[in-house]
Amino acid sequence: MFKSYESTRNSNLKTTASKAVLKGIAEDGGLFVLRDIDKCVDIESLTGKNYIEIAEIIIGFMLDDIPASKIKECVKTAYTEKFSKDEITPVVKVGDSFITELFHGPTSAFKDVALSILPHLMTTSYEMNDVDGEIIILTATSGDTGKAALEGFKNVKGTQIAVFYPEFGVSEVQKAQMITQEGKNTHVCAIKGNFDDAQTGVKRIFTDEKLIKESEESNKIFSSANSINIGRLVPQIAYYFYTYVQLIEKKEISMGDAVNFSVPTGNFGNILAGYYAKMLGLPINKLLCGSNENNVLYDFIKTGVYDRNREFHKTISPSMDILISSNLERLLYYMSNKDNEAVKAMMEQLNSQGKYEVSDEMKEKINQEFYAGCVFKEDTEKTIKEVYDNYDYLLDTHTAVAYKTLADYKRETGDESVSIVLSTASPYKFSKSVYESLFGSNDKNEFEIMEELSEKTGVPIPENLKGLNNKKVIHTKVCEINEMEEFVRRIVKR
Ligand SMILES: *Cc1c(COP(=O)(O)O)cnc(C)c1O
Repeated sequence: MFKSYESTRNSNLKTTASKAVLKGIAEDGGLFVLRDIDKCVDIESLTGKNYIEIAEIIIGFMLDDIPASKIKECVKTAYTEKFSKDEITPVVKVGDSFITELFHGPTSAFKDVALSILPHLMTTSYEMNDVDGEIIILTATSGDTGKAALEGFKNVKGTQIAVFYPEFGVSEVQKAQMITQEGKNTHVCAIKGNFDDAQTGVKRIFTDEKLIKESEESNKIFSSANSINIGRLVPQIAYYFYTYVQLIEKKEISMGDAVNFSVPTGNFGNILAGYYAKMLGLPINKLLCGSNENNVLYDFIKTGVYDRNREFHKTISPSMDILISSNLERLLYYMSNKDNEAVKAMMEQLNSQGKYEVSDEMKEKINQEFYAGCVFKEDTEKTIKEVYDNYDYLLDTHTAVAYKTLADYKRETGDESVSIVLSTASPYKFSKSVYESLFGSNDKNEFEIMEELSEKTGVPIPENLKGLNNKKVIHTKVCEINEMEEFVRRIVKR
Protein backbone atom coordinates (compact mmCIF):
# COMPACT_ATOMS: atom_id res chain seq x y z
CA MET A 1 0.00 0.00 0.00
CA PHE A 2 1.36 3.36 -1.01
CA LYS A 3 0.98 6.42 1.18
CA SER A 4 -1.91 8.63 0.35
CA TYR A 5 -1.75 12.39 0.15
CA GLU A 6 -4.91 14.32 0.95
CA SER A 7 -6.10 17.89 0.46
CA THR A 8 -5.58 20.14 3.48
CA ARG A 9 -9.23 21.15 3.01
CA ASN A 10 -10.89 17.76 2.50
CA SER A 11 -9.71 14.37 3.76
CA ASN A 12 -11.75 12.59 1.09
CA LEU A 13 -9.69 14.09 -1.71
CA LYS A 14 -6.87 11.59 -1.77
CA THR A 15 -4.17 10.77 -4.26
CA THR A 16 -0.74 9.13 -4.59
CA ALA A 17 2.54 11.01 -4.29
CA SER A 18 3.28 10.89 -8.01
CA LYS A 19 -0.17 12.22 -8.90
CA ALA A 20 0.19 14.98 -6.31
CA VAL A 21 3.45 16.02 -8.00
CA LEU A 22 1.67 16.16 -11.35
CA LYS A 23 -1.41 18.00 -10.11
CA GLY A 24 0.45 20.52 -7.96
CA ILE A 25 -2.71 21.59 -6.16
CA ALA A 26 -5.84 19.67 -5.10
CA GLU A 27 -9.12 20.09 -6.99
CA ASP A 28 -10.61 22.11 -4.13
CA GLY A 29 -7.71 24.54 -4.00
CA GLY A 30 -6.17 22.80 -0.96
CA LEU A 31 -2.57 21.62 -0.75
CA PHE A 32 -1.54 17.98 -0.69
CA VAL A 33 -0.30 16.70 2.69
CA LEU A 34 0.57 13.35 4.24
CA ARG A 35 -1.74 12.64 7.17
CA ASP A 36 0.51 10.27 9.08
CA ILE A 37 4.23 10.80 9.35
CA ASP A 38 6.28 8.65 11.72
CA LYS A 39 9.63 9.48 13.19
CA CYS A 40 10.98 6.82 10.94
CA VAL A 41 14.33 8.14 9.77
CA ASP A 42 17.23 6.48 11.59
CA ILE A 43 19.76 9.29 11.70
CA GLU A 44 22.63 7.06 12.73
CA SER A 45 22.22 5.19 9.48
CA LEU A 46 22.69 8.47 7.57
CA THR A 47 26.15 9.26 8.93
CA GLY A 48 28.86 8.78 6.36
CA LYS A 49 26.40 9.33 3.54
CA ASN A 50 26.65 12.22 1.08
CA TYR A 51 23.95 14.64 -0.05
CA ILE A 52 22.79 12.51 -2.96
CA GLU A 53 22.46 9.38 -0.84
CA ILE A 54 20.52 11.20 1.87
CA ALA A 55 18.24 12.92 -0.64
CA GLU A 56 17.48 9.53 -2.18
CA ILE A 57 16.36 8.12 1.18
CA ILE A 58 14.24 11.12 2.21
CA ILE A 59 12.60 11.71 -1.18
CA GLY A 60 12.05 7.98 -1.63
CA PHE A 61 10.28 7.81 1.69
CA MET A 62 8.00 10.79 1.02
CA LEU A 63 7.24 10.01 -2.64
CA ASP A 64 6.88 6.29 -2.10
CA ASP A 65 4.95 5.23 -5.21
CA ILE A 66 7.83 6.34 -7.44
CA PRO A 67 10.11 3.26 -7.80
CA ALA A 68 13.41 3.51 -5.91
CA SER A 69 15.42 3.08 -9.10
CA LYS A 70 13.63 6.10 -10.61
CA ILE A 71 14.21 8.25 -7.54
CA LYS A 72 17.87 7.33 -7.69
CA GLU A 73 18.02 8.45 -11.30
CA CYS A 74 16.19 11.73 -10.60
CA VAL A 75 18.47 12.62 -7.69
CA LYS A 76 21.61 11.74 -9.59
CA THR A 77 20.62 13.77 -12.66
CA ALA A 78 19.56 16.75 -10.56
CA TYR A 79 22.64 17.12 -8.40
CA THR A 80 25.56 15.69 -10.36
CA GLU A 81 27.76 18.46 -11.77
CA LYS A 82 25.05 21.11 -11.43
CA PHE A 83 26.29 22.52 -8.13
CA SER A 84 29.65 24.19 -7.63
CA LYS A 85 30.36 22.39 -4.33
CA ASP A 86 30.73 18.65 -3.89
CA GLU A 87 28.68 18.84 -0.68
CA ILE A 88 25.79 20.50 -2.61
CA THR A 89 24.79 22.26 0.64
CA PRO A 90 27.98 22.78 2.70
CA VAL A 91 27.90 23.88 6.34
CA VAL A 92 30.35 26.57 7.46
CA LYS A 93 31.11 27.92 10.92
CA VAL A 94 30.59 31.65 11.41
CA GLY A 95 31.18 32.93 14.94
CA ASP A 96 29.52 30.53 17.33
CA SER A 97 26.80 29.52 14.84
CA PHE A 98 26.69 27.60 11.60
CA ILE A 99 25.49 28.51 8.14
CA THR A 100 24.23 25.98 5.61
CA GLU A 101 24.84 27.43 2.17
CA LEU A 102 21.96 26.55 -0.13
CA PHE A 103 23.11 28.80 -2.97
CA HIS A 104 25.72 26.81 -4.89
CA GLY A 105 23.33 25.78 -7.67
CA PRO A 106 23.11 27.04 -11.25
CA THR A 107 21.36 30.36 -10.40
CA SER A 108 22.96 31.11 -7.00
CA ALA A 109 19.68 30.96 -5.07
CA PHE A 110 18.28 28.25 -2.80
CA LYS A 111 15.37 27.56 -5.16
CA ASP A 112 17.86 25.61 -7.28
CA VAL A 113 17.87 22.78 -4.74
CA ALA A 114 14.22 21.93 -5.39
CA LEU A 115 13.91 23.13 -8.99
CA SER A 116 16.86 21.02 -10.13
CA ILE A 117 14.97 17.85 -9.29
CA LEU A 118 11.31 18.82 -9.77
CA PRO A 119 11.41 18.45 -13.60
CA HIS A 120 12.68 14.89 -13.27
CA LEU A 121 10.12 13.99 -10.62
CA MET A 122 7.44 15.42 -12.89
CA THR A 123 8.43 13.59 -16.07
CA THR A 124 8.80 10.35 -14.06
CA SER A 125 5.34 10.83 -12.55
CA TYR A 126 3.93 11.58 -15.97
CA GLU A 127 5.34 8.40 -17.44
CA MET A 128 3.99 6.41 -14.49
CA ASN A 129 0.49 7.78 -14.78
CA ASP A 130 -0.04 8.44 -18.43
CA VAL A 131 1.12 7.87 -21.94
CA ASP A 132 3.94 9.94 -23.31
CA GLY A 133 3.20 13.55 -24.07
CA GLU A 134 4.66 16.89 -23.15
CA ILE A 135 4.35 18.95 -19.97
CA ILE A 136 4.26 22.73 -20.44
CA ILE A 137 5.34 24.53 -17.28
CA LEU A 138 3.93 28.02 -16.84
CA THR A 139 5.56 30.34 -14.33
CA ALA A 140 5.12 33.95 -13.32
CA THR A 141 8.14 35.32 -11.50
CA SER A 142 9.26 38.33 -9.54
CA GLY A 143 12.87 37.26 -10.13
CA ASP A 144 14.43 34.20 -8.49
CA THR A 145 11.91 31.46 -9.26
CA GLY A 146 11.77 32.10 -13.00
CA LYS A 147 15.48 31.71 -13.55
CA ALA A 148 15.77 28.69 -11.27
CA ALA A 149 12.84 27.03 -13.09
CA LEU A 150 14.37 27.80 -16.51
CA GLU A 151 17.67 26.22 -15.46
CA GLY A 152 15.91 23.23 -13.89
CA PHE A 153 13.74 22.45 -16.91
CA LYS A 154 16.31 23.41 -19.55
CA ASN A 155 16.54 20.59 -22.14
CA VAL A 156 14.60 18.15 -19.94
CA LYS A 157 12.97 15.74 -22.39
CA GLY A 158 9.17 15.91 -22.43
CA THR A 159 8.93 19.44 -21.05
CA GLN A 160 8.61 23.04 -22.23
CA ILE A 161 9.04 25.93 -19.82
CA ALA A 162 7.51 29.38 -20.19
CA VAL A 163 8.36 32.22 -17.81
CA PHE A 164 6.63 35.60 -17.59
CA TYR A 165 8.27 38.45 -15.72
CA PRO A 166 7.23 42.09 -15.21
CA GLU A 167 9.20 44.20 -17.72
CA PHE A 168 10.31 46.74 -15.08
CA GLY A 169 9.77 44.64 -11.95
CA VAL A 170 13.00 42.61 -11.69
CA SER A 171 16.62 43.59 -11.01
CA GLU A 172 19.17 44.10 -13.79
CA VAL A 173 20.93 40.88 -12.82
CA GLN A 174 17.70 38.89 -12.70
CA LYS A 175 16.63 40.22 -16.10
CA ALA A 176 20.02 39.43 -17.63
CA GLN A 177 19.83 35.92 -16.19
CA MET A 178 16.49 35.29 -17.88
CA ILE A 179 16.94 36.92 -21.29
CA THR A 180 20.22 35.06 -21.87
CA GLN A 181 18.68 31.68 -20.98
CA GLU A 182 19.83 28.83 -23.20
CA GLY A 183 18.00 25.56 -23.93
CA LYS A 184 15.75 24.51 -26.79
CA ASN A 185 12.62 24.20 -24.64
CA THR A 186 12.85 27.55 -22.82
CA HIS A 187 10.49 30.47 -23.47
CA VAL A 188 10.75 33.84 -21.74
CA CYS A 189 8.43 36.81 -22.07
CA ALA A 190 8.46 40.21 -20.39
CA ILE A 191 4.99 41.58 -19.79
CA LYS A 192 3.78 45.17 -19.68
CA GLY A 193 2.49 45.01 -16.12
CA ASN A 194 3.58 44.14 -12.59
CA PHE A 195 4.12 40.76 -10.94
CA ASP A 196 0.46 40.44 -9.97
CA ASP A 197 -0.57 40.93 -13.61
CA ALA A 198 1.83 38.17 -14.64
CA GLN A 199 0.55 35.86 -11.92
CA THR A 200 -3.11 36.57 -12.75
CA GLY A 201 -2.39 35.99 -16.43
CA VAL A 202 -0.85 32.59 -15.72
CA LYS A 203 -3.81 31.61 -13.53
CA ARG A 204 -6.14 32.63 -16.36
CA ILE A 205 -4.32 30.34 -18.78
CA PHE A 206 -4.62 27.41 -16.35
CA THR A 207 -8.41 27.74 -16.54
CA ASP A 208 -8.70 28.72 -20.23
CA GLU A 209 -10.86 25.87 -21.53
CA LYS A 210 -10.17 26.55 -25.16
CA LEU A 211 -6.42 26.55 -24.68
CA ILE A 212 -6.56 23.44 -22.47
CA LYS A 213 -8.55 21.63 -25.16
CA GLU A 214 -6.05 22.65 -27.83
CA SER A 215 -3.17 21.42 -25.71
CA GLU A 216 -4.86 18.09 -25.00
CA GLU A 217 -5.37 17.64 -28.74
CA SER A 218 -1.62 18.02 -29.21
CA ASN A 219 -0.97 15.64 -26.30
CA LYS A 220 0.29 18.31 -23.93
CA ILE A 221 -0.66 19.29 -20.37
CA PHE A 222 -0.06 22.47 -18.39
CA SER A 223 1.58 22.35 -15.00
CA SER A 224 3.25 24.69 -12.55
CA ALA A 225 6.57 24.80 -10.73
CA ASN A 226 5.08 26.76 -7.86
CA SER A 227 6.37 26.18 -4.34
CA ILE A 228 3.08 24.64 -3.19
CA ASN A 229 3.89 21.53 -5.25
CA ILE A 230 5.02 18.74 -2.89
CA GLY A 231 7.63 17.94 -5.54
CA ARG A 232 9.31 21.17 -4.48
CA LEU A 233 8.76 20.82 -0.75
CA VAL A 234 10.03 17.26 -0.32
CA PRO A 235 13.56 17.71 -1.80
CA GLN A 236 14.11 20.55 0.68
CA ILE A 237 13.77 18.20 3.66
CA ALA A 238 17.04 16.53 2.68
CA TYR A 239 19.36 19.42 3.53
CA TYR A 240 18.08 19.62 7.10
CA PHE A 241 19.20 16.02 7.62
CA TYR A 242 22.43 16.53 5.73
CA THR A 243 23.27 19.60 7.82
CA TYR A 244 22.82 17.54 10.97
CA VAL A 245 24.97 14.73 9.60
CA GLN A 246 27.75 17.17 8.66
CA LEU A 247 27.72 18.64 12.18
CA ILE A 248 28.03 15.15 13.68
CA GLU A 249 30.92 14.36 11.39
CA LYS A 250 32.65 17.62 12.32
CA LYS A 251 32.09 16.63 16.00
CA GLU A 252 30.22 19.87 16.63
CA ILE A 253 27.22 17.95 18.00
CA SER A 254 26.57 14.45 19.36
CA MET A 255 23.94 12.10 18.03
CA GLY A 256 20.55 13.11 19.44
CA ASP A 257 21.45 16.73 20.32
CA ALA A 258 18.60 19.08 19.51
CA VAL A 259 19.50 22.00 17.22
CA ASN A 260 17.77 25.19 16.03
CA PHE A 261 17.39 26.30 12.42
CA SER A 262 16.85 29.96 11.47
CA VAL A 263 15.21 30.47 8.08
CA PRO A 264 14.60 33.63 6.02
CA THR A 265 10.96 33.13 5.16
CA GLY A 266 8.58 34.19 2.38
CA ASN A 267 6.17 31.57 1.13
CA PHE A 268 6.91 29.32 4.15
CA GLY A 269 8.22 26.48 1.98
CA ASN A 270 11.79 26.29 3.25
CA ILE A 271 10.92 26.43 6.95
CA LEU A 272 8.03 23.99 6.52
CA ALA A 273 10.48 21.46 5.08
CA GLY A 274 12.26 21.84 8.44
CA TYR A 275 9.07 20.95 10.27
CA TYR A 276 8.71 17.87 8.06
CA ALA A 277 12.29 16.91 8.96
CA LYS A 278 11.31 17.18 12.61
CA MET A 279 8.20 15.04 12.07
CA LEU A 280 10.45 12.46 10.39
CA GLY A 281 12.64 12.31 13.49
CA LEU A 282 15.35 14.99 13.16
CA PRO A 283 16.06 16.42 16.63
CA ILE A 284 15.06 20.05 16.12
CA ASN A 285 14.39 22.26 19.10
CA LYS A 286 13.01 25.43 17.47
CA LEU A 287 12.49 26.63 13.93
CA LEU A 288 13.12 30.38 13.75
CA CYS A 289 11.09 32.25 11.15
CA GLY A 290 12.76 35.48 9.95
CA SER A 291 10.64 38.20 8.31
CA ASN A 292 11.47 41.59 6.80
CA GLU A 293 9.17 44.67 6.77
CA ASN A 294 6.42 42.48 5.27
CA ASN A 295 6.04 40.90 8.68
CA VAL A 296 2.71 39.14 8.33
CA LEU A 297 4.19 35.83 9.58
CA TYR A 298 5.85 37.53 12.55
CA ASP A 299 2.54 39.01 13.64
CA PHE A 300 0.78 35.70 13.04
CA ILE A 301 3.15 33.68 15.22
CA LYS A 302 3.10 36.32 17.97
CA THR A 303 -0.66 36.99 18.01
CA GLY A 304 -2.44 34.10 16.29
CA VAL A 305 -4.03 36.52 13.83
CA TYR A 306 -3.09 36.32 10.14
CA ASP A 307 -3.93 39.60 8.47
CA ARG A 308 -2.84 40.42 4.95
CA ASN A 309 -4.66 43.77 4.97
CA ARG A 310 -1.59 45.94 5.23
CA GLU A 311 0.77 47.98 3.16
CA PHE A 312 3.13 46.06 0.87
CA HIS A 313 6.78 47.07 1.30
CA LYS A 314 9.46 46.81 -1.37
CA THR A 315 12.51 45.76 0.63
CA ILE A 316 16.19 44.90 0.16
CA SER A 317 15.26 41.21 0.61
CA PRO A 318 12.71 41.06 -2.24
CA SER A 319 12.33 37.28 -2.34
CA MET A 320 10.60 37.54 1.04
CA ASP A 321 8.22 40.31 -0.03
CA ILE A 322 5.05 38.28 0.29
CA LEU A 323 1.74 38.91 2.06
CA ILE A 324 0.16 35.51 1.44
CA SER A 325 2.44 32.68 2.51
CA SER A 326 0.85 29.78 0.67
CA ASN A 327 2.62 26.95 2.45
CA LEU A 328 1.41 28.12 5.84
CA GLU A 329 -1.80 26.27 5.00
CA ARG A 330 0.07 22.99 5.49
CA LEU A 331 1.22 24.08 8.94
CA LEU A 332 -2.35 25.01 9.89
CA TYR A 333 -3.36 21.48 8.94
CA TYR A 334 -0.82 19.86 11.28
CA MET A 335 -1.29 22.38 14.09
CA SER A 336 -5.08 21.88 14.07
CA ASN A 337 -4.58 18.12 14.50
CA LYS A 338 -5.37 17.61 10.83
CA ASP A 339 -8.76 19.25 11.00
CA ASN A 340 -9.53 19.75 7.28
CA GLU A 341 -12.78 21.59 7.98
CA ALA A 342 -11.04 24.12 10.20
CA VAL A 343 -8.33 24.73 7.59
CA LYS A 344 -10.96 25.18 4.90
CA ALA A 345 -12.82 27.73 7.02
CA MET A 346 -9.65 29.73 7.69
CA MET A 347 -8.69 29.73 4.02
CA GLU A 348 -12.16 30.91 3.08
CA GLN A 349 -11.84 33.75 5.56
CA LEU A 350 -8.45 34.64 4.15
CA ASN A 351 -10.02 34.75 0.73
CA SER A 352 -13.03 36.84 1.66
CA GLN A 353 -11.64 39.07 4.44
CA GLY A 354 -7.89 38.74 4.03
CA LYS A 355 -7.73 37.61 7.63
CA TYR A 356 -8.25 34.72 10.07
CA GLU A 357 -7.45 33.84 13.67
CA VAL A 358 -6.35 30.51 15.11
CA SER A 359 -7.51 29.05 18.44
CA ASP A 360 -5.45 29.67 21.59
CA GLU A 361 -4.52 26.02 21.59
CA MET A 362 -3.18 26.23 18.05
CA LYS A 363 -1.32 29.42 18.80
CA GLU A 364 0.40 27.80 21.76
CA LYS A 365 1.35 24.77 19.72
CA ILE A 366 2.80 26.96 16.96
CA ASN A 367 4.86 28.84 19.54
CA GLN A 368 6.25 25.59 20.92
CA GLU A 369 7.67 24.77 17.51
CA PHE A 370 8.44 28.19 16.04
CA TYR A 371 9.97 31.50 17.06
CA ALA A 372 9.33 34.63 15.01
CA GLY A 373 11.83 37.36 14.26
CA CYS A 374 11.35 40.56 12.33
CA VAL A 375 14.30 42.52 10.95
CA PHE A 376 14.02 45.83 9.09
CA LYS A 377 16.41 47.42 6.60
CA GLU A 378 18.68 49.20 9.06
CA ASP A 379 19.33 46.10 11.16
CA THR A 380 19.73 43.93 8.08
CA GLU A 381 22.47 46.25 6.81
CA LYS A 382 24.08 46.43 10.23
CA THR A 383 24.12 42.63 10.47
CA ILE A 384 25.80 42.30 7.07
CA LYS A 385 28.49 44.75 8.18
CA GLU A 386 29.05 43.24 11.63
CA VAL A 387 29.34 39.70 10.31
CA TYR A 388 31.75 40.84 7.62
CA ASP A 389 33.87 42.91 10.04
CA ASN A 390 33.96 40.23 12.74
CA TYR A 391 34.12 37.01 10.78
CA ASP A 392 35.08 37.97 7.23
CA TYR A 393 31.90 36.31 5.95
CA LEU A 394 29.61 37.90 3.38
CA LEU A 395 25.86 37.45 4.06
CA ASP A 396 23.22 38.25 1.48
CA THR A 397 20.27 40.41 2.54
CA HIS A 398 17.88 37.48 3.08
CA THR A 399 20.35 35.42 5.08
CA ALA A 400 21.12 38.48 7.21
CA VAL A 401 17.47 38.59 8.32
CA ALA A 402 17.73 35.01 9.57
CA TYR A 403 21.12 35.64 11.16
CA LYS A 404 19.76 38.57 13.17
CA THR A 405 16.63 36.59 14.06
CA LEU A 406 18.89 33.94 15.58
CA ALA A 407 20.84 36.56 17.56
CA ASP A 408 17.57 38.01 18.91
CA TYR A 409 16.32 34.55 19.83
CA LYS A 410 19.50 33.67 21.71
CA ARG A 411 19.44 36.93 23.63
CA GLU A 412 15.77 36.58 24.54
CA THR A 413 15.81 32.93 25.55
CA GLY A 414 19.39 32.13 26.56
CA ASP A 415 19.05 28.91 24.55
CA GLU A 416 22.55 27.64 23.89
CA SER A 417 21.72 24.74 21.59
CA VAL A 418 23.79 24.57 18.42
CA SER A 419 22.06 26.73 15.82
CA ILE A 420 22.15 26.84 12.05
CA VAL A 421 21.19 29.68 9.73
CA LEU A 422 20.01 28.63 6.26
CA SER A 423 21.61 30.87 3.65
CA THR A 424 19.30 31.29 0.66
CA ALA A 425 21.27 33.40 -1.81
CA SER A 426 24.78 34.30 -2.85
CA PRO A 427 25.60 37.88 -1.74
CA TYR A 428 26.28 38.61 -5.43
CA LYS A 429 22.63 38.10 -6.33
CA PHE A 430 21.94 41.25 -4.33
CA SER A 431 25.28 43.00 -4.83
CA LYS A 432 24.06 46.57 -4.57
CA SER A 433 22.39 46.20 -1.16
CA VAL A 434 25.27 44.12 0.20
CA TYR A 435 27.85 46.58 -1.12
CA GLU A 436 26.03 49.57 0.33
CA SER A 437 25.71 47.87 3.73
CA LEU A 438 29.48 47.60 3.86
CA PHE A 439 30.84 50.62 2.02
CA GLY A 440 28.04 53.18 1.61
CA SER A 441 26.04 54.23 -1.42
CA ASN A 442 27.11 53.37 -4.95
CA ASP A 443 25.23 54.47 -8.06
CA LYS A 444 27.04 52.37 -10.64
CA ASN A 445 25.15 49.61 -12.43
CA GLU A 446 24.68 46.24 -10.72
CA PHE A 447 27.38 44.51 -12.75
CA GLU A 448 30.02 47.09 -11.90
CA ILE A 449 29.04 46.94 -8.24
CA MET A 450 29.40 43.17 -8.34
CA GLU A 451 33.01 43.56 -9.55
CA GLU A 452 33.79 46.18 -6.93
CA LEU A 453 32.32 44.08 -4.15
CA SER A 454 34.53 41.20 -5.19
CA GLU A 455 37.63 43.39 -5.46
CA LYS A 456 37.09 44.88 -2.01
CA THR A 457 36.17 41.68 -0.16
CA GLY A 458 38.14 39.07 -2.08
CA VAL A 459 35.06 36.85 -2.19
CA PRO A 460 34.79 35.36 -5.69
CA ILE A 461 31.76 36.00 -7.93
CA PRO A 462 29.90 32.74 -8.77
CA GLU A 463 30.62 31.59 -12.33
CA ASN A 464 26.97 31.81 -13.41
CA LEU A 465 26.76 35.52 -12.52
CA LYS A 466 30.14 36.48 -13.96
CA GLY A 467 30.04 38.16 -17.37
CA LEU A 468 26.28 37.90 -17.50
CA ASN A 469 25.99 41.37 -19.07
CA ASN A 470 28.10 40.23 -22.02
CA LYS A 471 26.20 37.04 -22.73
CA LYS A 472 24.13 36.72 -25.89
CA VAL A 473 20.53 37.93 -25.49
CA ILE A 474 18.18 35.20 -26.68
CA HIS A 475 14.72 36.22 -25.42
CA THR A 476 13.52 39.68 -26.44
CA LYS A 477 9.75 39.19 -26.49
CA VAL A 478 7.67 41.79 -24.63
CA CYS A 479 3.90 41.42 -24.61
CA GLU A 480 0.74 43.03 -23.33
CA ILE A 481 -1.07 41.24 -20.51
CA ASN A 482 -3.79 40.07 -22.88
CA GLU A 483 -1.24 38.58 -25.28
CA MET A 484 0.01 35.95 -22.82
CA GLU A 485 -2.46 33.33 -24.14
CA GLU A 486 -1.12 33.80 -27.64
CA PHE A 487 2.45 33.34 -26.42
CA VAL A 488 1.47 30.03 -24.81
CA ARG A 489 -0.61 28.95 -27.80
CA ARG A 490 2.49 29.18 -29.98
CA ILE A 491 4.27 26.77 -27.62
CA VAL A 492 1.28 24.40 -27.72
CA LYS A 493 1.27 24.42 -31.52
CA ARG A 494 5.00 23.81 -31.91
C1 LIG B 1 12.32 32.22 -2.20
C2 LIG B 1 13.35 32.79 -1.30
C3 LIG B 1 13.14 32.90 0.09
C4 LIG B 1 11.85 32.49 0.76
O1 LIG B 1 11.69 31.10 0.83
P1 LIG B 1 10.23 30.47 1.11
O2 LIG B 1 10.42 29.02 0.93
O3 LIG B 1 9.32 31.09 0.09
O4 LIG B 1 9.86 30.85 2.49
C5 LIG B 1 14.17 33.43 0.87
N1 LIG B 1 15.33 33.86 0.31
C6 LIG B 1 15.56 33.77 -1.02
C7 LIG B 1 16.84 34.30 -1.57
C8 LIG B 1 14.59 33.22 -1.87
O5 LIG B 1 14.83 33.16 -3.19
